[in-house]
Amino acid sequence: MSTRAGIVITGTEVLTGRVRDRNGPWLSDRLREMGIDLAHITICGDRPQDMEAQLSFLRDQGVGLVITSGGLGPTADDLTLEVVARFAGRPLELDKALERRIADILEPLMKRWENLDLQAVRAANRKQALVPAGATVIEPAGTAPGMVVPPSDGAGPTIVVLPGPPRELHAMWDQATATEAFRAAIRGATGYSQAMLRLFGIPESEIAVTLREAESRLTGFGRLEITTCLRRGEVELVARHEPGAAQTWEELRAFIAERHAGTLFSTDGSTVDLQVAELLAGRTVAAAESCTGGLMAARLTEPPGASAYVAGGAVAYANEAKVALLGVTPELIEAHGAVSAQVAEAMAAGALERFDADVAIAITGVAGPDGGTEDKPVGSVCWCAMDAGGATLARELRMPGDRAEIRDRSTTVGMHLLRRLLRGEGPPA
Ligand code: ATP
Ligand code: MG
Repeated sequence: MSTRAGIVITGTEVLTGRVRDRNGPWLSDRLREMGIDLAHITICGDRPQDMEAQLSFLRDQGVGLVITSGGLGPTADDLTLEVVARFAGRPLELDKALERRIADILEPLMKRWENLDLQAVRAANRKQALVPAGATVIEPAGTAPGMVVPPSDGAGPTIVVLPGPPRELHAMWDQATATEAFRAAIRGATGYSQAMLRLFGIPESEIAVTLREAESRLTGFGRLEITTCLRRGEVELVARHEPGAAQTWEELRAFIAERHAGTLFSTDGSTVDLQVAELLAGRTVAAAESCTGGLMAARLTEPPGASAYVAGGAVAYANEAKVALLGVTPELIEAHGAVSAQVAEAMAAGALERFDADVAIAITGVAGPDGGTEDKPVGSVCWCAMDAGGATLARELRMPGDRAEIRDRSTTVGMHLLRRLLRGEGPPA
């Protein structure tokens, strides 16, 4: 049995969508790494009844661990600890030593403000030093301490209370999981393993066919929990299994690798971005972009350390810019159109030269919603990856989706062309 867990995200700003929840997904990743089975993520505003209702719901679902995010600040709408203490049956008690430590954190911060109401600061300080009896304190990364609160009667979940600001929550997580109370809550649990495969250039339905066949061939297939999803133009397949089913997973992995050799590009969860970054070691890359407006260069520069291999990028949106920045001739544009294999190739050649790079990727297309023609409808995109030795990999596709999707997926295709070119492979299927 794995420990089941729930996450309660609090904050009216998150509930209303003003702030996008970053803590739920982050905590979900951490729990998965620990082999803890996450059952629910719930979101509620800063209202005690709603938060209490979510805790009750999760307890009724039999979860052994609940993690809360937010509502630990000094203001009146920060109510998490009050609710949790009541729910766990552990009255709040003032921790004098903690009050002192928070005061020490506040002191230098207070110097920044004039005319501060010291009385109010002290009251706020004291509020944050209230600890449910028997809970373990997690030292603050900002000003708010976190808590690990075990159930008072041995039944019900252990509740890990963390602050809302993601940076603080991240900084306090390791401390929380190292506490005896946290360890006790997950003791006796079977760690699940998880593995991920990534494929590119294949519809999800084909993977579904493969999985159906695998199901009838592989014994123990039912012990694998498999989910597939389409993300940024790639198919991700995630398999979760108990340690005893590792052999079955290896068989499935081999089965998929054999059937989809041309499209399976990652068996260790690595992203194409990471692979391209590694392949570029010792080489430099440049981007020449029209419809993606710099998204390709942004994606190439995302990994830390990108300065070692990214030479630069040119956003040549207008035809004049393609001519001036990348040396594409007006005649070529006139003859084939700005969205054409010929112009993409000329853009790549121009980028190689301009940036004195070893490889270049060029993208030109119609992202829409306007600007499509019968010949070149919205979604028509041309790519060309080229290296300094003159090797090229070109692609021309009609992409589905809206403007944002077309632009984003165009960078995925660009990444995969770079990957294949850097590996010395031929064009994708
Ligand atoms: P504080 O002492 O800063 O008030 P807190 O624990 O009370 O800490 P909240 O008041 O819930 O935290 O949130 C403070 C800010 O942190 C929010 O305004 C928001 O900018 C950010 N934040 C909170 N929760 C999340 C979340 N789930 N995802 C992303 N950002 C969040
Ligand atoms: Mg707050």
